[in-house]
Amino acid sequence: MALCKRRGFIFQASEIYGGLNGFWDYGPLGAQLKKNLKDAWWNDMVVHPPTGPDGSDVSMVGLDSCIIQNPRVWVASGHVGGFNDPMVDCKESKRRYRADHVQIMTTEGADRAYAFVEGDDAGRDKALKQLGKHARRTLVLADVTVAPLPSLSKDCLATAVGPDAKEPGTLTEPRAFNLMFKTYVGATANEDDVAYLRPETAQGIFVNFKNVLDTSRVKLPFGIAQTGKAFRNEVTPRNFTFRSREFEQMEIEFFCHPNATREWYAYWRDLRVAWWRSMGLLSENMQLREHDQDELAHYAKSGAGTSDIEYRFPFTHPGYGELEGIADRSNFDLTQHREHSKVKLEYFDPEHGERVVPHVIEPSAGADRGVLAILCEAFTPDPTRPSKVYMRFAPRVSPLKAAVYPLVNKDGMPEIAEHLYRELNRRFGFIEYDAKQSIGKRYARMDESGCPFCFTIDGETPGDQAVTVRHRDTQLQERIALDRVSDWLAAELVR
Ligand code: ATP
Repeated sequence: MALCKRRGFIFQASEIYGGLNGFWDYGPLGAQLKKNLKDAWWNDMVVHPPTGPDGSDVSMVGLDSCIIQNPRVWVASGHVGGFNDPMVDCKESKRRYRADHVQIMTTEGADRAYAFVEGDDAGRDKALKQLGKHARRTLVLADVTVAPLPSLSKDCLATAVGPDAKEPGTLTEPRAFNLMFKTYVGATANEDDVAYLRPETAQGIFVNFKNVLDTSRVKLPFGIAQTGKAFRNEVTPRNFTFRSREFEQMEIEFFCHPNATREWYAYWRDLRVAWWRSMGLLSENMQLREHDQDELAHYAKSGAGTSDIEYRFPFTHPGYGELEGIADRSNFDLTQHREHSKVKLEYFDPEHGERVVPHVIEPSAGADRGVLAILCEAFTPDPTRPSKVYMRFAPRVSPLKAAVYPLVNKDGMPEIAEHLYRELNRRFGFIEYDAKQSIGKRYARMDESGCPFCFTIDGETPGDQAVTVRHRDTQLQERIALDRVSDWLAAELVR
């Protein structure tokens, strides 16, 4: 977080006014990093769609729908009624927790239970110790039972001590808490004019299904892709940008014949994992996890596939946090919107004379969580000097592409350097030029900013017409001809 602030990747929103919990702004380098990620997604999914299982390109079109829609959209989608993460409040500590994040620890012989927040190892150890005191014996994890709070009876809840409490029985039963931000459309703030900021981009796609079908000559199977802001009034925003109240999604709704859902689900699951790898998430910190049957979302029918692409963030370690969900949503959304809008949302297959309500595979990714994973993956402290950090971005997402430096600011070096800078910046953009400070300091700044290459013009350059290129990841330096630099960089950046 300190590096993100120092180098201008991410700032607290409204920082000069003390910030606002759950909101983050992207600085010059962060804005470009995020844009590179979104552009790569749009390019690889929409502009040059991937090759499908049959060897031809997948059919994909783009969309850009509104953040505010007719509120009936959110009734049909289930968000107005059900977009609630049940919460529990602690009457003693005044803290609020997501019910499914609270774990309750019990053991035989103790008439008290202790709660802790999932993933909080210190909290879990504290609960173990306190439960041990109460049971008058030293306990290890194998001696206790741990269960999520919603699975417990009222009686058991009454004996539980909250994660930040001292007395038992202060946790409320789980209750609904609507996560959608409300606003009013028009000049008067009447309840009739209530509208919502969208909590996901997906519904904008479903409500435009017929428009796209009628205007773009797509044939089943096809996808509609959209990136954009989404808003959720998260109860406990935390972990930097991971759980924010305003964030950006990159979503595809892929419509296919009901018979073909399994094949397309497997296709998108594997393709999306490969895509994140191509964004530089190469370590085992990224993993794919298929959901257990009991955690399937409300739209997923029994047997349908749902999986998460997850990343082991420093703050979730040793656990993982979701980066993207791939879900078989069956025909849930189109059917809901057909019932609520009374508009037929179906596909007519002229070849087989068949009408179908397509099923949907949804790869739904978060741009902010993607940026955060890329930042974490890139963050490499120097093994000999831990205060020195290299940000090892893949060249494709890297906000800076190269730097051009005159070794010293005299003897004809700045002129050659400026010339090279202009040539490279015209072709690639995001080239850094700096003639001040020692060369060591300039390199260190580029290492922390994640710039993959520095070209240095030195005293030899006027004679041999060559420059030194320094590689960020190996710090190796090699000499290449001045007139080859541009093509050399072009080849390196597509690696
Ligand atoms: P979680 O369980 O972490 O709340 P979710 O399962 O509700 O996430 P989805 O509704 O599947 O998330 O949203 C799709 C993607 O949108 C997520 O994979 C994530 O990358 C992103 N996302 C969701 N909520 C947030 C948030 N509060 N802040 C940042 N990104 C988010």
